[in-house]
Amino acid sequence: MAGFNLNRLVRSNIQTLKPYSSARDEFKEVSTDMVFIDANENPFENGVNRYPDPKQNKVKAQLSKLKGVPSNQILLGNGSDEVLDLIFRAFCEPNRDVVITLPPTYGMYEVLANVNAIDVIKIPLDNSFEPKVNDILDEANERTKLLFLCSPNNPTSNSFKAEKIELLLNQFSGIVVIDEAYIDFSHDESWINRLGEFPNLIVTQTLSKAYGMAGIRLGVSYASEEIISILDRIKPPYNVNELTQLKALERLSQQDTVNKEIENILNERTKLASALNDISIIENVYPSDANFILARVDDANRRYQELILKGIVVRNRTNQPLCENCLRFTVGNAEENNLLIKALKEL
Ligand SMILES: *Cc1c(COP(=O)(O)O)cnc(C)c1O
Repeated sequence: MAGFNLNRLVRSNIQTLKPYSSARDEFKEVSTDMVFIDANENPFENGVNRYPDPKQNKVKAQLSKLKGVPSNQILLGNGSDEVLDLIFRAFCEPNRDVVITLPPTYGMYEVLANVNAIDVIKIPLDNSFEPKVNDILDEANERTKLLFLCSPNNPTSNSFKAEKIELLLNQFSGIVVIDEAYIDFSHDESWINRLGEFPNLIVTQTLSKAYGMAGIRLGVSYASEEIISILDRIKPPYNVNELTQLKALERLSQQDTVNKEIENILNERTKLASALNDISIIENVYPSDANFILARVDDANRRYQELILKGIVVRNRTNQPLCENCLRFTVGNAEENNLLIKALKEL
């Protein structure tokens, strides 16, 4: 976007911050055959007695190859949650700045805003679950630091129209965070391919969904080198532990397996959606671009409880704006999906 000035958006204490310099920052060549007595580690080898690589170079190199984004435009965190929190702490001055979210959406944006003493302006999606571009732009001023676009959106499961996202990227005066936790299930292209055009863009992804690694907690953000270097300065030095880095490397090198699983989930999603359409208590099945399906039922609170009695736990989204009487079903494996369909038919 024209006239973009990153420094205007960064908190002043962050601009002047002197980052912690860890032992591994001061001497990086761990592969060399040296005696390492600089970090007060226990010298007896057990696989994790050494601190992990604070820059996560191997994981970033793999991601870089996979995604076509240079390593210096990648930041890793302890889940997307940490990455999002770092974004708040870099750009939002507590008790002064504000952010915009578009409900119904992922609940963590608001929680992180509250933790950081940042007000949230909520501009609900329209009836097609798309952003109201003009209303969003009307709210923006010099204190509106972040705009969260979750696409594909949780819980509505749609991807926002590219034209709308592009308008917002071009015209919103702060940072636009596009949360792509579900991008691997989507027909749409990732916005990481357009980072060069938009200096105000941060894309977040995760290994928790399509990559099947929710347990290791690895979140990723992609942005300009300038934005990444700011986030890098404030992250805890060893924020991604050794076990996580090892597991992530292993999984990222098994892209064929990951792709097969995604394909399987997408096939199951198609089957599940059409089966749901034939169930009498279900009034509407929303089209999904993610690994879950949002469906409107006759009485969400009642059906939620009845499913629990049948041993099936779904997410009740009835209290979310625009989601009255909606349940969210994660696409499981074939057996789980059949159990869900069978249970719903019995209600
Ligand atoms: C599941 C999910 C995430 C993942 O968060 P992690 O902390 O990486 O597990 C992020 N954003 C959205 C919208 C999600 O639904």
